[in-house]
Amino acid sequence: MTKDSQMVWDDCLRTIKKNVSPQSFKTWFEPIKPVRLDAEVLTIQVPNKFFFEWLEEHYVQLLKKSIRQELGERGRLVYHIPENGAAPAGMQSAGKVNTRPSADKDSEPVPGSFDAEMIKNPFVIPGIKRIKVDPQLNPNYTFDNFIEGDCNRLARNAGLAIAKKPGGTAFNPLFIFGDVGLGKTHLAQAIGNDIVGRSDAKAVLYVSAEKFTNQIIQAIKNNSVNDFVNFYQMIDVLIIDDIQFLSGKQKTQEIFFHIFNQLHQNGKQIILTSDRAPKDLEGMEERLISRFKWGLSADLQAPDLETRMAILETKMEEEGVDIPSDVLEFICYNIKNNIRELEGVMVSLLAQSTLIRRDVDLELAKEVIRNFVTTINKEITVEFIQQLVAEHFSVPVDKLHHETRKRNIVIARQLSMYLAKKLTNKSLKSIGEQFGGRDHSTVIYSCKAVQDMMDTDIVFKDTVEEVEKKLKMSLNM
Ligand code: ADP
Ligand code: MG
Repeated sequence: MTKDSQMVWDDCLRTIKKNVSPQSFKTWFEPIKPVRLDAEVLTIQVPNKFFFEWLEEHYVQLLKKSIRQELGERGRLVYHIPENGAAPAGMQSAGKVNTRPSADKDSEPVPGSFDAEMIKNPFVIPGIKRIKVDPQLNPNYTFDNFIEGDCNRLARNAGLAIAKKPGGTAFNPLFIFGDVGLGKTHLAQAIGNDIVGRSDAKAVLYVSAEKFTNQIIQAIKNNSVNDFVNFYQMIDVLIIDDIQFLSGKQKTQEIFFHIFNQLHQNGKQIILTSDRAPKDLEGMEERLISRFKWGLSADLQAPDLETRMAILETKMEEEGVDIPSDVLEFICYNIKNNIRELEGVMVSLLAQSTLIRRDVDLELAKEVIRNFVTTINKEITVEFIQQLVAEHFSVPVDKLHHETRKRNIVIARQLSMYLAKKLTNKSLKSIGEQFGGRDHSTVIYSCKAVQDMMDTDIVFKDTVEEVEKKLKMSLNM
């Protein structure tokens, strides 16, 4: 008796079933339909391209083995993807692992390009509509105590809009980025808390990218990546904090990419935070970066003085302490670039005042701040410039003193001289002396060289400005 495609496939399934978890079997193999058998070529239909990629990536060996078992050494598998399954039909594989059609790079699916019919599977577990997850949120981070200012207006308002209609705005994903301590975690959690507090019980999950990565490592170890993915597919609002942590972690990025696609296609909300803009994420796959830009990227900037004061006042009210306004202003005036640090100073101040039983006043505040910001009011010195420039160019600082032709050292030395001339009131002679005893003409020559390079090389000009900014920042100038 000759076998038809269904029979061959059924036999393959028996082998497969023995080798994968029931969950994976249901998710990945049950939706497959055998459509044709020509000698030793079995054609199977899979719902879409993504499905095909997943099979190829995770089950190619198993498929190969079971097909050969049924159809002999020359047995092969051909995938058929229905017209609107977003890929050319009849892609070959399984027997020929290397001919795998290049996936996403050339033909990035755009949101909505998959037919809704096609994506009913593969992740939705029949019978489970709503899951109950602990959102892992800190209830103290709310919109109420997230003070609005120019520095965060866009991000905060986008967050509010999302909280009202998760997945239903153009802000998907919402990509919040900014320097450390400027409120990314607070804002992302505020959105989550707001949604959780509403009546229509959405499954919200907050997770740091680090934890997410560890979960994946664990899942790989335990052979439970599918369960992991299935779980994340059921979240309505997924918040991943510090996504830059995924940089260079290829496997994690890959799995996240699939989760992202499924959630996005199903209208689920994704919120990401990062310490830099999508385009500046190094070690992150292009296809992920391009997705990060689909929705809204909103940055958090350093707050102005008024906003800093409003934030600190709110915190102090929450703590139930009363701080003289001149102290508050003094602290806010001195700590500019990091709200966490602002709070840190205030906490140390309160601790000090309790421990030494002294009232919180301006004097005490000054003492505390002096300890906190060691460089405060520090004078800018040639040594300090040398240190910072050397660090920036990754050259040992003592190299700046010696004769060398190494280009990056020469540039670092010239730039240090230029900045020393610009930012200190040292004479040319004394600057020269601090660079291994050179004379004033060397300093003049260096300043001119830097100026010329800045005029002709915009990248170099940016570098100079960046170094100068760093210098000023670390000195609170
Ligand atoms: P990031 O995640 O960007 O490093 P966080 O969200 O942890 O920063 O914020 C640092 C601290 O600053 C937190 O205690 C947070 O509550 C506070 N904070 C930041 N922005 C605001 C704001 N706009 N209003 C009130 N508190 C803020
Ligand atoms: Mg954070």
